[in-house]
Amino acid sequence: MSTFTQYSDNHLKQIINAFLITAITIFICALVGILGRPLLFLAILWPANAILVGLFLRFKALKNVGGWLGAFTGFMTADLITGNTFLVTLFLTLANLIHVIVSLSLIRLFKLDYKQYNKGLTFLYLFAISAFGGCLAAPIFASLTVPHLPNTFMKMDRIWIDFGMWWTGEILNVVTFLPIILAIPEKKVFQQYIHDIKTKPFQYKNFLPLGAVILSVILTHFFIGPGAIMFPIAALIWAALSYNLFFVSIINCFVCMLLYNSLSAYYIAQSPDAYLATTLSVRIGLLMLALGPLTLSIISLNRQKLYHQILYLANYDSLTTTMNRRFFYEESERTVTKEVEKQQAQTVTILLLDLDYFKKINDQYGHVIGDFVLQKFTNQVKELIRSNDLFGRLGGEEFAILFKDLSLEQSISIAQRICNTVYDTPIYLDDGRVLNISVSIGLSYQTLPYCIPFQQLIQRADDALYQAKEKGRNQLCIESTLNAEPILDIEHYLQKQ
Ligand code: GH3
Ligand code: MG
Ligand code: MG
Repeated sequence: MSTFTQYSDNHLKQIINAFLITAITIFICALVGILGRPLLFLAILWPANAILVGLFLRFKALKNVGGWLGAFTGFMTADLITGNTFLVTLFLTLANLIHVIVSLSLIRLFKLDYKQYNKGLTFLYLFAISAFGGCLAAPIFASLTVPHLPNTFMKMDRIWIDFGMWWTGEILNVVTFLPIILAIPEKKVFQQYIHDIKTKPFQYKNFLPLGAVILSVILTHFFIGPGAIMFPIAALIWAALSYNLFFVSIINCFVCMLLYNSLSAYYIAQSPDAYLATTLSVRIGLLMLALGPLTLSIISLNRQKLYHQILYLANYDSLTTTMNRRFFYEESERTVTKEVEKQQAQTVTILLLDLDYFKKINDQYGHVIGDFVLQKFTNQVKELIRSNDLFGRLGGEEFAILFKDLSLEQSISIAQRICNTVYDTPIYLDDGRVLNISVSIGLSYQTLPYCIPFQQLIQRADDALYQAKEKGRNQLCIESTLNAEPILDIEHYLQKQ
């Protein structure tokens, strides 16, 4: 098969996939809207447009001819099978698509990247654009066309009502449904959530913010009145600071829908003649309510990310991604003292590693290659140690490793393997040159109970390292007090075990 046919086959598959996914999604969403709408009137809940904008923004593979055709088919089928005439259905569908087209075009025009959570104002911009873009364009188009069609339910004499209801309805739909689609976690993150739920012990504390939100919504039913719209605000803030953005968006969506139902039922019963003004007021109020937790959730997400970044920068060496000197010392001291208290670890091993004649590498190949060699070296070492072993760069080309719960023999065998692997693995440079390096290692070892400070363990390993350098480099030396000889033939040593 030629590359071209393969390309067009894949392309066709992608278009068909996009068609099916959007057609089914939009059909279901439109049906939900239609079935929930009063007879011969606009739908109260119309998630389809907001969800389509979200799908096209979030999943780029859907935004192609297939996706647009699928959306068109979904809108048309849902309306046609529920009894609308073809012409009215067609113009309503066009209005819906105009919403999506205008929203996407404006988002592109203003170069709004919804993933740029760092600004914290992402959703404020997104809603401003939607409210005065797509949400407005659709009812303008519908008001200008649909009332002139035969068998229409939009009439000229109450066009302002329909226009206002459509516009604010769209805005509310965007604020409730769009964030959910945009915040759908990536597959890896989602798997992490599931893993956390399965492995972490159940903590009722985690459910308190959600419980508070539910309680506050229930309270609005019992104490309905002008203040009811603000009842959930404190609980929503709590939820926004406790949960991830996806979960906060779902909670927000439910709160808005439930409050919309109870508040509009109550106020319309109070003053049926001011139907439009009441509904608009409730919708705008809910929009403002929903924006708060979403914005807060983004800011909190951003703060956490930043905190972790800064923590990483403070504790790790940026060149080799090993721990920096301070963090290695802190963690090692903590490990040693913690183990003394809990009496868990039986042993601790310190390896000090120093690359041989590294100055020569810098002099001969330059500093940049020197840096590259340091990275290659640390990668090789990481392959040979466990993920929970501590590995730090003490400075320049000197590194340290802490093992716990290994026997002296095991420690020696790993150290020896590091020494051999580094010596046996050539480093290939981009220009084709090949470089060989070697490392000298000093080892100190301590069994429980620890009676010496960590600094002394390091000092003993340093003395051993000095010995290794003295004896000609590219070897492992063990601190003299242990009376153990370095094992030069590791395979032979391992067979003996
Ligand atoms: P020995 O076998 O005795 O350890 O010899 P050596 O040349 O490795 O030791 P020396 O301490 O004399 O030199 C270490 C060199 O490491 C000097 C310095 O230029 C280089 N170095 C230190 N930090 C870095 C770094 O971050 N990047 C690069 N490329 N070189 C570094
Ligand atoms: Mg050196
Ligand atoms: Mg050195």
